[in-house]
Amino acid sequence: MKNLQTMIKEQGQVFPGNVLKVDSFLNHQIDPELIKAIALDFAAYFNRSSITKIVTIEASGIAPALMLASHWGIPMLFAKKSQPSTLKNDHVYHSPVYSYTKQTETTISIDKAYLTSQDRILIIDDFLAQGQAVLGLVEIAKQAGAQVAGVGICIEKSFQAGRSRLETAGLDVYSICRIAALDQGKISFLEEDKFCGQ
Ligand code: 5GP
Repeated sequence: MKNLQTMIKEQGQVFPGNVLKVDSFLNHQIDPELIKAIALDFAAYFNRSSITKIVTIEASGIAPALMLASHWGIPMLFAKKSQPSTLKNDHVYHSPVYSYTKQTETTISIDKAYLTSQDRILIIDDFLAQGQAVLGLVEIAKQAGAQVAGVGICIEKSFQAGRSRLETAGLDVYSICRIAALDQGKISFLEEDKFCGQ
């Protein structure tokens, strides 16, 4: 089975501004075997019972979110970053999200038809940096009256503020790989021995 930490070590590239590029297996080309291992890791940590939907943001959260949703046999819902003209404002929940990598603010939205007070959701995303993307989804869940069961992250940059912000908000955060530092192109992990993605 594929291992996320090994893939990051072998193929991850560090860019200025503490940005880790993982286009060869997660953010552009996608490795299905790795995504399957990631989904099984999330499934082992979170208790599936009473979770009604997996929620993420387009585009890079979709692959792991869909794989987990398929494993559990529940729907996957992704927030859109641009609002289609067919979606009128009063038909959507929306929240502003500041993008760490693009350094711009976008409004994410979810159609009110697909998220209700009957839902208990698990949020999945590819990266956790400052926590803005996840907090945007939490805000949308709040507007819908939906409960948030937890947050599953593929790659957490633990030297940034995201985890503490989410924990302060009372969220259960599980990250498969936790990066301690991205110093001068060198990637170090918080739990060097953790065999993630298994
Ligand atoms: P946050 O909202 O937690 O600040 O950032 C999370 C979002 O920004 C993720 O959805 C991800 O798309 C993007 N992101 C943040 N940091 C990185 C990074 O180092 N590499 C990549 N590829 N995406 C990142």
